[in-house]
Amino acid sequence: METVAGLAISRGLVAGPAFLYRADNLPNVPENVVAPEAADGELARFQAARATAREQLTELIGRLQADGASGGEADVFANHLALFDDVLLVAAVERNIREAHVNAETAVRRAMGEFRDVFAKMKDAYLRERARDLDDIERRILRVLTKTEETTLAQIDRPVIIVADDLTPSETVALPRDFVLGFATDRGSTTSHVALLARALGIPAVVGLGDISTRVQTGETILLDGTNGTVTLDPDKTTRAAFERMIRRTRKLYSRLADGPSRSGVLKDGTPITLRANVQPGVPLCGLATYGAEGIGLYRSEYLWLGEDGHPSEERQTQVYTEAARAVAGMGGNSRVVFRALDLGGDKLMSGTLYRETNPFLGCRSIRWLLAHRDAFRTQLRAILRASAAGPSSVMYPMIATRDELRAANDEFELAKAELSAAGVPFDADIPHGCMIEVPSAALAADQLAREADFFSIGTNDLVQYTLAADRGNEQVAYLYQPAHPAVIKLIDMTVAAAKAQGIPVAVCGESAADPVLAALWIGLGVTSLSMGASGIPVVKKALSGLSSADVAELADKVRAMCADSSAADIYAYCRTFVLEKVPDFEAFQA
Ligand code: PEP
Ligand code: MG
Repeated sequence: METVAGLAISRGLVAGPAFLYRADNLPNVPENVVAPEAADGELARFQAARATAREQLTELIGRLQADGASGGEADVFANHLALFDDVLLVAAVERNIREAHVNAETAVRRAMGEFRDVFAKMKDAYLRERARDLDDIERRILRVLTKTEETTLAQIDRPVIIVADDLTPSETVALPRDFVLGFATDRGSTTSHVALLARALGIPAVVGLGDISTRVQTGETILLDGTNGTVTLDPDKTTRAAFERMIRRTRKLYSRLADGPSRSGVLKDGTPITLRANVQPGVPLCGLATYGAEGIGLYRSEYLWLGEDGHPSEERQTQVYTEAARAVAGMGGNSRVVFRALDLGGDKLMSGTLYRETNPFLGCRSIRWLLAHRDAFRTQLRAILRASAAGPSSVMYPMIATRDELRAANDEFELAKAELSAAGVPFDADIPHGCMIEVPSAALAADQLAREADFFSIGTNDLVQYTLAADRGNEQVAYLYQPAHPAVIKLIDMTVAAAKAQGIPVAVCGESAADPVLAALWIGLGVTSLSMGASGIPVVKKALSGLSSADVAELADKVRAMCADSSAADIYAYCRTFVLEKVPDFEAFQA
């Protein structure tokens, strides 16, 4: 038995069988030293595996061509085919077998490693990119050598805890969700895609577990604690029984909080706070009311693109968005759905996208992509407008960095409205349009933007990433990913001040809203609406109900003063103690 610690990203406890999934589909390769007289045999194994893998690839290229796949894909695989025959590569494997006396699997890995180093040092960017092709070839040969089948997430046909190195957005879209009990991944952070999905679905998850995907086999029972961020491998009987008892106790505790839609978020003195859910197409909307969400504060529309082949049509988009608008119309209260325009790019790439930017998070993503693809943008805006006839809706634009971008987006919105009006298609003529604040320049120039928008929604996931220049999905720089950093707090404070001056409301829709400690701070700074993975709502609601307007204002004032010479850790610790002292029996939920 062993307990591995990682990052707790979605609360809850679960025990169950593991399902191992590695994106590289690389089997765990045995590293054997072989006697010199066994070298010929190992070489023959390698040559046979190379021939089989080559045949498989030729067949795949034939299939792609027959299906009329874009020339690009078939060309990439044709490049791979040429590498299979590269005499230098074959010679490197042979040298490793004969001189280093290793088995064929190890020789392949080492030879590929040598080649990757050579490619990586090349000046030409195109050739450097070819290092990726080597990964594919290595995987194919190793799978044949070790007789391992390719694992796909579609193979899951019973409830399992997914153990993976990491999951990309398109992989999370492909998951058979009804069978996912939990997630445990090697890499990732609080805002990685698996985290967003886990919280939206209310599934326990732990990420940043190092090399867990190399230590677990499919079918093994594991215990996952998404509240404390641990995974126990090979648990003994006593530990398992204690864990099951804890599961029952926690269920009881939380069932008291999930009190349904009857009570919206409210501070101790009766001040209403709107609490909404972050969702993406495909997440069942019927669950939102259970968590007490007042509709959807962030509808991540781009997952529709990630899950489909190419661009969904206007009709298809209208149908999906209308389902969401109808669902919130039935939730009552201050419910509405805030559709976020397509936020493609960065690491959210459509399947089959071969073009890779050198620096994708600073590249042609989100609103930049939309303004460069006006037809796709207008189509989406028309679909959102059409859905607005079915229930209270808003639209917001992601990644706005300048006023010109916001103005251009607003112009497109007006054109989309004019087109629908001319065609006599009904929509809500008063549908609000908002600006996401997730780039430091937007926060610093929020006074300009506030004049052109009906509301702001602060995306702290990206705002923190861009303010501290720390990749939100990279656990190696997770120590820099600090939502309570004075720089982030100042940007949020400026944003709220600019919005107040213009009389428009501000929401926070980044995952920091699900942290009751930060939620209290954001409300103190003047934010009036929070949106988060639905499962986070009950605990945030509980924390806010124990704090008055005067309390959160006091907290914000103290933190503003601390910003002059305190670290993020000091500020967070201060806020945490403040909330724990003010909110009765809150400690139990923080365990
Ligand atoms: C954010 O950046 O905080 C946000 C809500 O958007 P996303 O996580 O989808 O980038
Ligand atoms: Mg964002």
